[in-house]
Amino acid sequence: MARYTGSVCKLCRREGMKLFLKGERCMSPKCAIERRAYAPGVHGRQAQFRQRTSDYGLQLREKQRARRIYGVLERQFRRYYDIALRSRGQTGANLLAILESRFDNIVYRLGLADSRAQARHLIQHNHFMLNGRRLNVPSALVKAGDVITVREASKQNGYFRGLTEVLEHRSVPEWLQLDPATMSGTVLAIPAREQIDVPISEQLIVEFYSR
Ligand code: SF4
Repeated sequence: MARYTGSVCKLCRREGMKLFLKGERCMSPKCAIERRAYAPGVHGRQAQFRQRTSDYGLQLREKQRARRIYGVLERQFRRYYDIALRSRGQTGANLLAILESRFDNIVYRLGLADSRAQARHLIQHNHFMLNGRRLNVPSALVKAGDVITVREASKQNGYFRGLTEVLEHRSVPEWLQLDPATMSGTVLAIPAREQIDVPISEQLIVEFYSR
């Protein structure tokens, strides 16, 4: 499975905002945006003074930001867009709903991982079950009613051992339900646009692909 292997903090600096790709570090003073709030590269400092005014530039940045937040490569993202376009309702909202339905995103939203990247890693190492069956595909799309559980064998694993206490203090989005005692969560519904708290203007993404 292809994935981005470069520095993720550079992605935040390129977008000029925190994308929260590294879990706890993102909340600490070590965050690269706190220390170097300008674009990466030798011309990064000058770039912050340049105005990006073209419509194309704005649309491109919005699309890239969405891809980077969810950790999806271009080809997969374009596939999601095509599905969103063919579905009923607003294409932009459909696209975000699909991205939120990814297995790795649900694990992250439930608080079972500190970031989507960590969720992907844990899923690929067979720590989770979907509806009672082991699943190691981070891009799998879940549906309303699906139940995500940490595997019994994995609960003894170092990472999961102290997680129950942490989960008791975590809040999850209203469209998910978390049971900290069993380390499991249920998808109550696929979220509507107003329930998705990502800083993205999905209309710009639709305009980008509609050119
Ligand atoms: Fe982005 Fe987190 Fe890195 Fe800060 S620490 S730049 S929020 S990935």
